[in-house]
Amino acid sequence: MQPEELETMTAEELLRWAAEEFGERLCLTCSWQKQSSVLVHMVSELRLDVDVVELDTHLFFRETYETRDALVDRYGLRLSSPGVITVAEQHRREGPNLWERDPDRCCHIRKVEPLLEALGPYGAWISGIRRDQSPSRAATPKVQWSERYGVWKLHPLADWDEKRVWAYIAVNEIPFNPLHEAGYRSIGCIPCTRPISPDEEERAGRWAGSDKLECGIHVERTTHV
Ligand code: SF4
Repeated sequence: MQPEELETMTAEELLRWAAEEFGERLCLTCSWQKQSSVLVHMVSELRLDVDVVELDTHLFFRETYETRDALVDRYGLRLSSPGVITVAEQHRREGPNLWERDPDRCCHIRKVEPLLEALGPYGAWISGIRRDQSPSRAATPKVQWSERYGVWKLHPLADWDEKRVWAYIAVNEIPFNPLHEAGYRSIGCIPCTRPISPDEEERAGRWAGSDKLECGIHVERTTHV
């Protein structure tokens, strides 16, 4: 398959191609935002048997866990959660509230390291990131090789905008995180997420007040196909 062909595929076509190409070595990561709702529904509609890996930092909002439970119930997801040290253990090792002093290290401990471990058995990883979410994601290709994780990264929603995500959720009546309706257009951990006003960028409420834009799991030197 040529890179140009992959880039012109719809989200559904890319997921079907990935399932044929990678079989059981394909997984979908979810943080239970609106893109997770779209992708678990789409994978289910296509009747693809894909493992779901939950990136749970133990610092999510109650509504996020409730969204996870609703999606697991409705779609019968086969869910795995990579191990992560407890917040209390992190306080003991690193001092209290590491997210205030060194959010990059906190994200490394609670997101990047668990993801590295979780992706071990897989050859490809489906993620819901979109180009229009922020300038740091504007060049996201639909398929890219990740040196850092040793897997192919697949972004079926790379060319979707926020409006299209919401339309898909509404038309298909998919459960979604209710915090999105309370001004949280992007949702992460409680200490690092705030609601935003309509004129701000979609991810402006993440690590607000700092120059941090990404948790780090999508940041690396990568090779496009
Ligand atoms: S988003 Fe904040 S609390 Fe969550 S892992 Fe990163 S720095 Fe820590």
